[in-house]
Amino acid sequence: MRTTKDIQDEIMRLKKEKDFCILVHAYQAHSIVEIADFTGDSYGLSVQASKVPNKNVIMCGVRFMAETVKVLSPDKTVYLANPNAGCPMADQIDIPILKGLQEKYPGYETVAYINTSTELKTICDTIVTSSSADKIIGNIENDKILFVPDPNLGGWIAKRHPNKDFKFFQGGCPTHMRITKDEVDEAKSAHPDALFLVHPECRAEVVELADYVGSTTGIMDYAKKSDAKEFIIGTEASIVEHLQYECPDKMFYPLSVGLICHNMKMTTLVDVLNTMNGTGGEEITLSDDVIKGAKKSIDRMIALGG
Ligand code: SF4
Repeated sequence: MRTTKDIQDEIMRLKKEKDFCILVHAYQAHSIVEIADFTGDSYGLSVQASKVPNKNVIMCGVRFMAETVKVLSPDKTVYLANPNAGCPMADQIDIPILKGLQEKYPGYETVAYINTSTELKTICDTIVTSSSADKIIGNIENDKILFVPDPNLGGWIAKRHPNKDFKFFQGGCPTHMRITKDEVDEAKSAHPDALFLVHPECRAEVVELADYVGSTTGIMDYAKKSDAKEFIIGTEASIVEHLQYECPDKMFYPLSVGLICHNMKMTTLVDVLNTMNGTGGEEITLSDDVIKGAKKSIDRMIALGG
């Protein structure tokens, strides 16, 4: 029987032989994190990939993440390890829907969360990540903001910028949105000494109860540096496992057993191996116009402090 270790060893051998860089989003299983060149949030991974000399890049995550890698590294061959892994939130809004909103709200700056398709990014003014959104919105001169697709992240940012007028698309991350205030109350009474760390994709009534609100990387950094010993993790369940490996002297509890992104969990070690062997995965191809259009909104994010 082939073991996890056998497949990991084969992947590590092929990485060198075939010049691959492997990017692994933090919501992936720990067995995949172990074969990564880089782990973290989607935009950070794209930047890392653009700096390495490798010609081939595999994204273990969802489609928009692999597309963002291609936009920042158009000369590299970029693969999505599992072609079926999409982001339901990114798929909620397309160009006709966004154009309709832009016509409804003329004069508003279109700000899109990075969790959107690359095509959609071509008609946005700027992109934000969950960690950069606050700073970027603060640096936008226009006081009218059309924020898509996540009204939870957008609403959290809007509270910090009461001088601006926000309009939202009523989408959201199905994984984070399903968390209820009652689940937070239950987790807090089960673990009264634990700090509650949450992702801003959760509903406002959940985020309000947090000791820390931040991106996936922000949550992991906060937990690692904190003097506290117990944490309730209000984001995807894999973060609990990764943190438990990194901080064995601390305790991490999932806010809810339902906090699992099934799209993120589609990717397996065998998908990675098959991609390297040319029998699986999908090469990401984008037209020059789409790359150029999306890059413009990403460049504006960088210029505004992202
Ligand atoms: S956790 Fe939410 S935003 Fe992230 S990939 Fe899954 S559905 Fe998309």
